[in-house]
Parts: sequence; C-alpha cells; structure tokens
Amino acid sequence: MNFEVEYTPEQEAFRKEVQSFLKVNVPAGLVTTAAVEAITHEQYLMQRELGRKLGGKGWLFPTYPKEYGGGGLNLDQTIILEEEMDQYGLSLPPYYNSGGNLGAPSILVWGTDGQKRQFLPPIFKGEVRVWQLLTEPGAGSDLASVKTTALRDGDDYVLSGQKIFVGSNHEVDWLWTLAVTDPNAPRHENLSWFMLDASLPGITIQPLDLLTAGGEGGAGSGVKNSVFFDDVRAPASALVGGENNGWKVATTHLELEHGGGGHIGRNRLWERLLHYCMTHELDGRPMTKDQDIRDLLMDIYIDIEIGRLFGVRNYFLTHAKKARSYEGPQSSMWRKSGNLRIAGFIQKILGYLALTTDPAHVVEEGHIELHQRSAIVGLHPGGTVEVQKLIMARRIGIGRTVREEAGRLA
Ligand SMILES: Cc1cc2nc3c(=O)[nH]c(=O)nc-3n(C[C@H](O)[C@H](O)[C@H](O)COP(=O)(O)OP(=O)(O)OC[C@H]3O[C@@H](n4cnc5c(N)ncnc54)[C@H](O)[C@@H]3O)c2cc1C
Repeated sequence: MNFEVEYTPEQEAFRKEVQSFLKVNVPAGLVTTAAVEAITHEQYLMQRELGRKLGGKGWLFPTYPKEYGGGGLNLDQTIILEEEMDQYGLSLPPYYNSGGNLGAPSILVWGTDGQKRQFLPPIFKGEVRVWQLLTEPGAGSDLASVKTTALRDGDDYVLSGQKIFVGSNHEVDWLWTLAVTDPNAPRHENLSWFMLDASLPGITIQPLDLLTAGGEGGAGSGVKNSVFFDDVRAPASALVGGENNGWKVATTHLELEHGGGGHIGRNRLWERLLHYCMTHELDGRPMTKDQDIRDLLMDIYIDIEIGRLFGVRNYFLTHAKKARSYEGPQSSMWRKSGNLRIAGFIQKILGYLALTTDPAHVVEEGHIELHQRSAIVGLHPGGTVEVQKLIMARRIGIGRTVREEAGRLA
C-alpha cells in the first residue's frame, strides 16, 4: 500500500498559483526570525494587509461558504494553502484572530441568515479581527460560572462585568463573549452569546504582560488583556443563537478550541533545535554525535511527530466534516503535556543556554528560550491538560454510563 500523498496536476497548478501570489504579497519585513520581541505595530499592519489580500481571493477562510465571503474551496486546496503559508512561518489568518476562527463557525451553526450576512463576510475577507472573551477572574475551567451580566433593556442588552487573559496586542474590531442573561435560571440555561463592536462606549481593554511576552498568537501569545464592561449597551441583534441558549452555542467553538480543529505545518522548534545541535560542538565534535543528546533528540522528535499526526488527523476530520469524539482533547492534551516534556529534554541538552536571553549566548534567536516559557503558560489556554483529560475520559466512556458527545460543528 502506498501511503505517500500524491497531488493531481490541477492541485499542483493551484500550488503554483498560491506560491506566486505569496511571493509577491508577503512583505519581507513581515517574516521575523527573532522570538524575543513582540511583533511591531508596523508588522501587525502588514499582517492585516496580507489578510485582506488573501480574503479578497477567498483564501483567508478557504473552506467557508462563498455566499458569506469564504472561499468555497475543498480540503486539498486548503491544505495546499496552509502548507504554502507555513513556508513563511505564517498560518491562516496571518494574524491573531481567535475570535474569528472560533466565532465564525459558531455563527454558521447558530446565527440567523441576517447575522451570517452581517458578521461573516467582514471576518472572512479580513476586514475585521476578532477576540474571544470567555475567561473571568472566577470562571476559567468552570466556564459556565461566568458572572458578567447582559440584561435586556428595551432594544438593547446592557453588559457589566470583567473578562481576563483575553485577546492579544494591537487593535481589535469585534469581541464576542458569553454573559448571564437570566440570573435566576439554572446553570447552563442562563447564558447568551454576543458579538460586539469593540468600540462601544463602556468597553475598556487593559493589557497584562504574561510570561510569554514574545510573538503574537499561538503558544507565544504573551500579551493578554483584562476587558471591562461598564454598562455597555449592545443592540439585541448582537445576541447569537437565542436568549439563554449561549452554552449550546459555546459547545461549537469549545470543540474547536479543545483541539478539534487540528493544524497543518512544520514544527520549527524541532528544525531550530536540530540545526543548533548539528552546527555546534560538544567536546570537539558535533552535538548530534553525542549518544545522550541523540537519545534526547529522538524523544523530542517522537513527541513532536505524534502531535503533528494528531493535528493533521483533526484538521482532516474538521474540514471533511467527519464525526469525532475524543480526538480534539487527545490532540490538545498531547501537545500541551508534550511541550512541557520537550522543555525538560531541551534543558538536559543545552543546560543554562536553554534559559538565557543574553545576546552573547542566546540560542536560535530566542526561540528555544521562548519555548521554555511558552511550555508552562501554554498548559492553560483552550482547556488545561487536566480538563482535556477529563473531557477525553468522558467521551471514551470512562466513569459514565452514556458517552459524552462532541460539540456540534458546521
Ligand atoms: C496564554 C493564555 C491565553 C489565553 N487566551 C484566552 C483567550 O483568548 N480568551 C479567553 O477567554 N481565555 C483565555 N485564556 C484563559 C484560559 O482559557 C484559562 O486560563 C483556562 O481556561 C483555565 O482557567 P484558570 O486560569 O481560571 O484556571 P482554573 O480553572 O482556576 O484552574 C486551576 C488549576 O486547576 C485545575 N482544574 C480545574 N478544574 C479541574 C477539574 N475539574 N479537574 C481537575 N483539575 C482541574 C486546572 O487544570 C488548573 O491546573 C488564556 C490563558 C492563557 C494562559
């Protein structure tokens, strides 16, 4: 049996078209190699500009329906797009847009046709970027305990409360959130899901600096924020999926965030580490000739390769619209716990060099040191390791008479 992926002539022609487009439209200043600094505002604007150009061709959200501004492309074309973006160290979208990636599928499943026409095209065309605002000081893993309220007043809802650890740096256009619309209703039946204009009066965004203050997005999304709602008036049309039905709406994006969406792309940490070990010496010979280092590098490779395969499988399941159960949390749990294991292996290989940002000694432009911090912070976003384990166990059927089902996806 031949397991090699073979592309048809049409797919190869599409790849060439994507390559030519990216060659012209990815500015040199956008692709940075250093990890120690957060991206500049100028680079952020370049990311957005590239996003709009990709969006204009339907390549920003390639599989989403054309009628709402998506590309209407198939899975193979989407994988080609992701692979070619990855050549530049970028993914789709090329900027932090957790709210768009996770909010758009929720709107597709739960929104009215009018809401789909209002909210989806600007996201799919790269005209807006969106943050997701779920976590609160008293509601992280136990998300259903959120306390922010959104109480109906005439044609509006009035929002009051605080979110924490959300978003990224630079500007944001829209925010979506989960808030209590019926303080007297039982748990899970008291919440609603809102898409908000970030410039509404009463919204204050206050940056927090975390341990991973390098890069933007992904594990390195170091700049997070508190967002305060002080009597924010939002139109009733901002409520998606029905009043007090917000928990069900949330199951769609939580499924994706818990690893169900999958990912495509090379592991640059591995490439950088291998490059370093091949080009530096220990006791007068390349580090890769040392028996113990080779052993540790293989442990790292196996961890990374298993994570890559889980990611590709979940990407396929999502975009081919296949049923799934435990696969999302399985992938997320492996990636998070694996990153921490890998951080330990790297310390054994590099010693103090794994931890320094001293320009005279820093390894691979700060990426190795950033991984040490990201591996710790990265245990939390999108469901902690313990929470992923719990969800996986429920879906396998451990400790339950009925297996829990995966959230509904578009
Ligand atoms: C870098 C970063 C980015 C983030 N981005 C966003 C974002 O964009 N939007 C957003 O809304 N939120 C975001 N978050 C918040 C994130 O979702 C929460 O940190 C996460 O849900 C955990 O909540 P918590 O921090 O309150 O920890 P807690 O829920 O208080 O957990 C504390 C500890 O208890 C454990 N625990 C909790 N419940 C259980 C249980 N039932 N069984 C076993 N162990 C349990 C946890 O695993 C953890 O170790 C981000 C966080 C970080 C660190």
